[in-house]
Amino acid sequence: MSEVLELAQALIAIDSVNPDLVMGAAGETQIAAFISQWLESHGFEVTLLEPAPHRPTVVGVLRGSGGGQTLMLNGHTDTVALQPFDGDPLEPRVLDGRLYGRGSYDMKAGVAAMLVAAARVSNAGLRGDVIVACVCDEEVASLGSFDLVKHFTADAAIVTEPTNHGLYIAHKGFVWADVTVVGEAAHGSRFDLGRDAIALMGAVLVSVRQLDLDLRSKALHPLLGHGSLHAGTIHGGQGYSSYPQDCTVTLERRTIPGETPQTVEAELRALLEGIKAADPNFQYTLKVGLTREPFEIDPAHEFVALTQKHASSLLGQDVPLKGVGFWADTAALSSAGIPALMFGCLGAGAHAASEWVSVDSLERCTDIYEAIIREFCA
Ligand SMILES: [Zn+2]
Repeated sequence: MSEVLELAQALIAIDSVNPDLVMGAAGETQIAAFISQWLESHGFEVTLLEPAPHRPTVVGVLRGSGGGQTLMLNGHTDTVALQPFDGDPLEPRVLDGRLYGRGSYDMKAGVAAMLVAAARVSNAGLRGDVIVACVCDEEVASLGSFDLVKHFTADAAIVTEPTNHGLYIAHKGFVWADVTVVGEAAHGSRFDLGRDAIALMGAVLVSVRQLDLDLRSKALHPLLGHGSLHAGTIHGGQGYSSYPQDCTVTLERRTIPGETPQTVEAELRALLEGIKAADPNFQYTLKVGLTREPFEIDPAHEFVALTQKHASSLLGQDVPLKGVGFWADTAALSSAGIPALMFGCLGAGAHAASEWVSVDSLERCTDIYEAIIREFCA
């Protein structure tokens, strides 16, 4: 069995469910201890960061002789819940060239591949440093990567999330916002006193739907297309026989580069002011919540070309440049000034009941990361 397959299996067997997803779950403590030991035995300098209690990130650094470029490989060690899963989620199984288990695809394969790739160059006499960052909490708030960039930097970074061999050079961001329509509580019989916050929310929902359709009609970004807007949750009312005091909808606006929390807030305020202008009875509050920036790297950046060259030559196929809708840790690295991209294994079933990664892909990606390190850090 190859070293990388053995390591991927060992990582899958360690429960590392994110405790902010499942109350009382194992978290990253045990997997971080295992990786620390592995890194030490392979000659890395090891640093443990703890952005929150019992939520460790492990960073291994392979020091170069000096004067070269530093490359960071970044992968998360947490997983989503173990169940539902077909079979034992913590017992890695290889069947027909596929490695099954919770986290096999998302993303213990990527972590194993980057660790083994870096270890292979430990005696290569490189000038630059290699940093392998095994971060916590990607599945919830990315505490790990946001904290990592306060302590480490690099000249380029690869996030080794599974990309099915596509080279991801852009992804969307998002902005959450609460819109509360303010009503007037009153007895259900007192139409003369009450103001129905839930019914007044109807106008907001109609406008939200229209704004989403408008956004979708304009593809502004070559890889990401357009932004979008949808309702996430809605709450309101005190009881059957009362006029509702308030009604709150939480909106999610997915953003493309150029769209910021400020532009989204202005867009939503214009929407709400439009309703207010037509109905003086309408009162609202708007509060922008969690935001995550979109990410992109210039397709002409030399690190994109270097990654694409090694990936396509070792895979023997074209490796397309892509943009994706979901948010990832790439943006945390990029917003700290590290040119970053995402490239990784082939498989399926992230967050699903049957999750697997291709064993052949796991081994190819290890070779690709190794080739990139050797050239970039030479
Ligand atoms: Zn992931």
